[in-house]
Formats: sequence, C-alpha cells, structure tokens
Amino acid sequence: MKNQIICITGASSGIGWATAKIFANQGARLILCGRRKEKLEKLEQQLQTDCHLLCFDVRDRNAVFAAFEGLADSWKKIEVLINNAGNAHGLDPVQTASVDDWEAMIDGNVKGLMYVTKAVLPSMIAAQKGQIINLGSLAGKEVYPNGSVYCSSKFAVDAFTQGLRIDLNTLGIRVGAIHPGLVETEFSQVRFKGDKERAAKVYQGIEALTAEDVASAINYMVSVPERVAIADLVILPTRQANAYIQHRT
Ligand code: NAP
Repeated sequence: MKNQIICITGASSGIGWATAKIFANQGARLILCGRRKEKLEKLEQQLQTDCHLLCFDVRDRNAVFAAFEGLADSWKKIEVLINNAGNAHGLDPVQTASVDDWEAMIDGNVKGLMYVTKAVLPSMIAAQKGQIINLGSLAGKEVYPNGSVYCSSKFAVDAFTQGLRIDLNTLGIRVGAIHPGLVETEFSQVRFKGDKERAAKVYQGIEALTAEDVASAINYMVSVPERVAIADLVILPTRQANAYIQHRT
C-alpha cells in the first residue's frame, strides 16, 4: 500500500475519515474529497502522509469531472477509489416525503457515485489495474419502512457495482461493495436535519458499528492479494440481525 494513490470521497466525516486514517498509517498517498474544506484540512493535519484535497459536491457533474481532470500528473494515477460520499435525507413515507430529499439522495448517492467512477476510470484503464469499492448499505439489500428512496439509492449502488464488475472484467480492475448496518457517525444527524436527540435514539440500547470497524473491513478488501476480489461484504453490529431485528437493551 505504501505510496499507492487512494482516493476517498466523503473523507470529511465518519467512515471516510476513519478509512483515510487507516490508509495513511500504511503510507498511502491520499486524495481526500468532500464539500467541507475545513474538515478535510483538519483531517490532513492529523495524517502523516502526502494528501491532496478536492472540494466538490458529487451532485455537480461538471465539478466532479473538472476536479479529476485538473489533477497534477503526480496525483493522476489513482489505484484505489473508495466511493463513500453519501447520506440519507429524511425518513418518511412516499406520500409525505420531501422531493428535495429524494433528489439529494438520488443525485448524491447514485449519480454522484457514478460521476466519480467515470472520472477516475481512465487512469485505471490505462494502468490495466485498480480497485473500486462502493459504499452500499444494508438498505441496499433490504427495504425498511419510510426508507423507500434511500433504499432505492443503495439498491442502485448494488446494481451499479455488479454491472461495473462485469464491464471491467477484462481489464484487471477489482470492483466490490461493502454494505454496513448501523454505524454511529454523523449519518443520522444529517438524516434528521441536525436533530441530535432524534439521531441519538437510532443508536440507543444497541452497540452500533464504529466508523473504524467499517474502515478496517475496507482495509481488508484492499489488502488481499491482487488475484482476490471481495465482491460483496455485509457488515453488521452483532446485535443487528437484519434491517428489522435489532436487540436493544
Ligand atoms: P457521515 O458521517 O454523514 O459522512 C458522509 C460523508 O459523505 C461526509 O464526508 C460528506 O461530506 C460526504 N457527502 C455527503 N453528501 C455529499 C455530496 N453531495 N457531495 C460530496 N460529499 C458528500 O456518514 P457515514 O456514516 O460516514 O456515511 C458514509 C457512507 O456510508 C454513505 O454512503 C452512507 O450512505 C453509507 N452508510 C452509512 C451507514 C450508517 O449507519 N452510518 C450505514 C450504511 C451505509 P461533506 O458534507 O463535507 O460534503
């Protein structure tokens, strides 16, 4: 991993942040992406490795392509892409949900992830090697009440991952997805628009995964020998059996 160029979207918080730390400790060179520049700068200060910061909204197609096309030659050869940026917005039935929330999820979690993939692919294709890991979710495996559009976005990530693996099969590029259950990050605060009390309830009485737990699984996916592609990895808290069954005390 030493000196490998790894690009992480959504590095300004949660799983992306923890993943950056794990890779930095192994000497990777990191392209850290997110909208909040000050958070990325804070992260960069904590890492003892070469970093390059890219601030863009993944929903902005032109900004995504411009960011990667503008990379200096010394940063262009991205070997690993962690497509992690994404969030849930709202938890409501279809009939009362906000269409703005839907657009934020479909445009960010689905189209944004696709734009970043397309922007990064040329350098991997030229090298005939590389690895793309997409952040899906348990919500991309099972649909739960009031989550129809977030779940739709993560089912789409699952389908896109499978299709991408087929399309890149002859090129030696590994493609996989990781699907976490409950992870305690800023995720629920974003979902509930800053309502910290409501967000805290999501993790009450159950030991959720930490961002570091997911980061170490991502690290495993990257660290296996090149002949091995971890295609699909579901990771749950021990007390969460599926989207519905959670043992809370
Ligand atoms: P988080 O702490 O809220 O982090 C989300 C990250 O995504 C932030 O760095 C945010 O950066 C970035 N992001 C969101 N929308 C963006 C946009 N439009 N453009 C650019 N960056 C954007 O949440 P997390 O739990 O680490 O989530 C990371 C991924 O894991 C997401 O794809 C999420 O769906 C998935 N996931 C989370 C859980 C969970 O329970 N936490 C479970 C399964 C899957 P900026 O705000 O700075 O742009």
